[in-house]
Order: sequence, then C-alpha cells, then structure tokens
Amino acid sequence: MAVRIEKYLEIREELNQRATLVAVSKVRSVAEIMELYELGHRDFGENYVQELIEKHMMLPQDIRWHFIGHLQSNKVKLIAPFIYLVHGVDSFKLLTEIDKQGRRSHRTISCLLQVHIAQEETKFGLSEAELDELIMGISQTRDETHEFRNISIEGLMGMASNIDDVEKLDAEFEYLNTLYDKYATIKHPAVRFKTLSTGMSGDYKIALRHGSNMVRIGSLLFGARQYPSG
Ligand SMILES: *Cc1c(COP(=O)(O)O)cnc(C)c1O
Repeated sequence: MAVRIEKYLEIREELNQRATLVAVSKVRSVAEIMELYELGHRDFGENYVQELIEKHMMLPQDIRWHFIGHLQSNKVKLIAPFIYLVHGVDSFKLLTEIDKQGRRSHRTISCLLQVHIAQEETKFGLSEAELDELIMGISQTRDETHEFRNISIEGLMGMASNIDDVEKLDAEFEYLNTLYDKYATIKHPAVRFKTLSTGMSGDYKIALRHGSNMVRIGSLLFGARQYPSG
C-alpha cells in the first residue's frame, strides 16, 4: 500500500488557502501517516479513540489530531489532553463532558456540532431544531453558570448522503451552509464560528462550492480502505 503523493499534492494545490485538508488516517499505518507528515502535513483525522491514542503516542507531537467519529462521553477524558478539534459533537451531554475534561486538562477544547443532513437514517447528527436549542442554550446560560469556559464551538460538521445525485448533494451541502451562516454572527466566548467541515473523497468538490472550508479526505490519499476481516 502506498500513499498517493501526487494526488495529495494536487488536492493541496486545489484547496490552496481556501480549505484545510484533514487527511483521514483511520486504519492506516504510522508509516503511511509519516509519508504525509514528511511533506509538511499536520492535520490528521481518526474515528476510533483507541487507535487515535496509540497513534498519538507513536507519532510526532506537533500533529493536529481531529476526532471525526462518534465520541462516547466516557471516552472524552482519554483524548482531552491533546485533541485539536472534535468534529462530531451531537448532544448537550457530550458537550458538557468535553467542557469538564477540558477544565481538568487546563485546555479549551475546540468542537464542531454535527448536523444531520443526509437522507440515511443511520448517520449521526443534530436536527435543525436540536442545533438551535443547543446553541441558544449555551450562548445564554454560560455567564451565569460559569460553565462552558473550556469549550469553543467553532462551527458545524456534516456528512452528505452516500449517493451520486449531484443535485441532491448540492441541496444537502447548501442546507448546511445556510445553517452555518445563521450562527456565524453569534459572538460569544464559547460560540465563535469559523469552520464548516464538509466533504470527503467522493464529494469534496461539491462541498467546496457550498462554503466548506475543511475537507476530510481518506481514500483519495491512501487508496481504498481494507478493514481487517474476521
Ligand atoms: C472515513 C471518513 C471520512 C473519509 O472518507 P473517504 O471517503 O475515505 O475520504 C471523512 N469523514 C468521516 C467522518 C469519516 O468517517
């Protein structure tokens, strides 16, 4: 298995300063990650806590680790000391735990709220109403309760449907972009939007047309994923 260096350079050029590239390194080896690291790449995304912790221990400390999976509250403490950005936050309970563990680690932890934009039932994420409730709740309560001093909600994350229908994908990404714009004007110590994380190998070009400024790309860089069988 070889890292597709040419493709990496091409995507980096294409994104230029417009969007951050998170290289999704789940199931990839430390050696594969190092190939991109040596080209100057620092943003890597993982979606399993155990795998992330192992890689964090083995790899250079200046890597910015993005957690892009579904984070369970009881695992937050394991990554709180070093995580750079948590992409998939979709409950008040999880936010509260991230805040608490941030305080213990003497850090402010950056998060993105995950919004459900796909047709598929199985994908995680908040509905528009839940998102509204969460953001409004936090931007109103924080000062009295002195909670949420150790989180920074920096934007939204979404995964579009796994389909080829460009019109549908356009609509899903645009919907998320509209929600992003709606909250981007809030100026609150714990809510300061600057990141819209959308787009993967198959749909990042479409996402970029709809305001994405952070793409999460795995298979285009590393080849198709082969999960261990059995
Ligand atoms: C695996 C994964 C990606 C990358 O998928 P590719 O199709 O390999 O680019 C992006 N985002 C999330 C949340 C993922 O789990």
